[in-house]
Amino acid sequence: MTDYRRLRVALLGAGAVGSQVAALLRKHGDELADRAGAALDLVGIAVRNPDATRDVELPRELFTTDADELITGADIVIELMGGIEPARSNILLALSSGADVVTANKALLATHGPEIFDAADQVGASVYYEAAAAGAIPIIRPLRDSLAGDRVQRIMGIVNGTTNYILDRMDREGSDFADVLADAQALGYAEADPTADVEGFDAAQKAAILASLAFHTAVPLDAVHREGITQIDTQMMDAARKAGYVIKLLAVCERLSGTDASPSGEAISVRVYPALIPREHPLASVHGANNAVFVQAEAAGNLMFYGAGAGGVQTASAVLGDVVSAARRHIAGGVGVGESTRANLPVLPVGRVTTRYQITLEVSDTPGVLATVAGILSDGRVSIATVEQTVLTQGPSTSSGTTGQPGLARIIIGTHRALEQDLSETVERLAASGVVTRVVSVLRVEGD
Ligand code: NAP
Repeated sequence: MTDYRRLRVALLGAGAVGSQVAALLRKHGDELADRAGAALDLVGIAVRNPDATRDVELPRELFTTDADELITGADIVIELMGGIEPARSNILLALSSGADVVTANKALLATHGPEIFDAADQVGASVYYEAAAAGAIPIIRPLRDSLAGDRVQRIMGIVNGTTNYILDRMDREGSDFADVLADAQALGYAEADPTADVEGFDAAQKAAILASLAFHTAVPLDAVHREGITQIDTQMMDAARKAGYVIKLLAVCERLSGTDASPSGEAISVRVYPALIPREHPLASVHGANNAVFVQAEAAGNLMFYGAGAGGVQTASAVLGDVVSAARRHIAGGVGVGESTRANLPVLPVGRVTTRYQITLEVSDTPGVLATVAGILSDGRVSIATVEQTVLTQGPSTSSGTTGQPGLARIIIGTHRALEQDLSETVERLAASGVVTRVVSVLRVEGD
């Protein structure tokens, strides 16, 4: 075996991902050493409870509760504890002690990314985080390195497996949100408290990370518009299916031009919401708990990255790829990989974004209703592309005939591109118009 320089690797956390990282590091140590050009010695694992039973068998003597001591003697620190503290302090300590850092912590990077990247820059160290967005799928390195010579125009990602699993089953089986969520919890696809997933918080963190990289701009989490999927019901699913769409929770990161928000006219929009996408779009065929990221770049055109967005061993693959990169850099020395935020583009609020919409209304089935609805849309600068009207119920009748009371009809309107702010004001006016009995849904259309 080659006599490599030995690097001390400290692991923080041995949960779903950390335990798999430790096991693979030990199992494939020789091979990883050949790839990294350095022997990777796992010198310790910091956890809360060193005596807890782990997913894989690991030597008890590796475990410690003293993270600080472990960190200060390490060349590479792998942070897989999750959460903000003590992960943040541990990473800052690792960087100031001269270690390179590998982390999968999306919550931390989405909220404290600039602080951490600045700390790395100051000491010439690197922070690697391939596993922080879309698990096992290589997307960070392609955005940071492979596309560094191109201009990313748009990213549309299915970056949360739990919500994709739920929406996919609702679409395929016609099942209810609550039933599928309960099933997902029983099967371990959803947490007992599913808020982070179903309300879009997890996807918003990943969107902030992807947009920061793609547009060379620090995107704070609170600049990401976020909506979840809890309001999606079987009626919306049916309407989407009939119109040739599928509903997916999308993270959309978009470069906008011709705005008055910057001297160059460029700005970006970062948003997470359930959207309709055409059934023939590549993202429509992402089923189950899988993730996919669809990237549109000026020169490269359309690229699609697909695979497992979570899972202990799958995520460990991305973490170990980063460990090999960190080891190579640690040996080579020089400046770290750095995060480019030089473009510093303004992030526009969702109200200033234009998309197409599908508006589903319940109206009283009387003559002239469609004309009234069309008039309100036109006054609100929302132009109609398609309209479909279906009678839901006839007006009540007696033995002597109809009572003259109107029945109910459903109108599904597809719009041309409209400004979100115009659209939401128009929907408010429709709801108050007297002819609309219920705004059933308003969904954006993406990817066509
Ligand atoms: P996990 O199963 O909850 O494991 C967390 C580990 O960190 C446990 O070993 C725990 O120790 C340790 N830990 C937590 N707080 C600690 C503290 N204050 N001091 C010392 N140790 C502490 O988490 P995970 O699912 O492996 O996720 C790890 C990271 O990967 C997170 O940032 C997560 O967002 C990210 N990630 C996970 C997945 C996935 O599929 N799970 C996918 C992509 C990214 P004890 O075991 O002693 O409690």
